[in-house]
Amino acid sequence: MVLTPDLSLGEPAGGAQRTLRNPIGCVGTGLHTGAKVSLSLRPAAADSGVRFVRYDQPDRTPVAACYDQVCDTTMCTKLGRQGGPTIATIEHLMAALAACEIDNALVELGGPELPIMDGSAQPFVFLIECAGVVEQDRPRRWIEILKPVTVCGQDKSARLEPAARFEIDCAIHFDHPLIDHQSLQFTFTPDGFKAEIARARTFGFAERIEELWSRGLGLGGSLKSTVVVSHDQVLSDGGLRFPDEFVRHKVLDTIGDLYTAGGPIIGRFTGRRAGHTLHNQLLRALFADPRAWRVVTEPGMAEPVAPVRRAAIA
Ligand SMILES: [Zn+2]
Repeated sequence: MVLTPDLSLGEPAGGAQRTLRNPIGCVGTGLHTGAKVSLSLRPAAADSGVRFVRYDQPDRTPVAACYDQVCDTTMCTKLGRQGGPTIATIEHLMAALAACEIDNALVELGGPELPIMDGSAQPFVFLIECAGVVEQDRPRRWIEILKPVTVCGQDKSARLEPAARFEIDCAIHFDHPLIDHQSLQFTFTPDGFKAEIARARTFGFAERIEELWSRGLGLGGSLKSTVVVSHDQVLSDGGLRFPDEFVRHKVLDTIGDLYTAGGPIIGRFTGRRAGHTLHNQLLRALFADPRAWRVVTEPGMAEPVAPVRRAAIA
């Protein structure tokens, strides 16, 4: 399927950085740990980026939501430093922040993992919209892809290449009659994300649940937070929100993971059975090659600017 929203609404344009107008919070359950956790989103200064703090830990040094701070990509994207607090399952909130064009925010968390909510990004979009958004006195920084970068795993790949806007082309394959092969091409706009992607939920297979539990994963999973699929049916109440909800969620995860680049991307992403691990490897490969990207404040303009955000993180 190809989703092409009204692009006149989503033309990448220069503009100011944005943060939340007011603090806001929620309480929920971690998908993998099963622990109750509270989450607060707070306004943050221009050029500070998205940062996470574990307020239940003695070490309250903020951790940047940056690809080079990702320490684990098993079933989710986890941030953390060696020996320091870790923050797991950031990708759905990161997708909501990308969709709401929030450049700077402080995320305070009372546990090791973000709440899963309903398994989608919609509750986080709702929270951000309730908090309100304000513009700041610094220009927004975009990461423009200048040449193709590809990473591969066994029968999977992820690629970024130049394009006029942020385009996502995802394909997934599961040897399961309800999923099989699904693909989606989505041109990112905030409104398009909110309408077509934000509500797509994470999914899991009933027959894998015991195996996940034995590995200490999925302990907070329920029919309210995950699309659970048995061998021939969707077990969750109400069925699917979209016939291709599975690949839409893959697009959601991709947008969230790629927002750890430190800003919105101008380029085309192509993922074939890709996941959190390849997404992170792709960003590391991209930023390892200084000729593959540049930071711009006016998409389409020639003049590059210094990557202040990344310098501030380092
Ligand atoms: Zn996800």
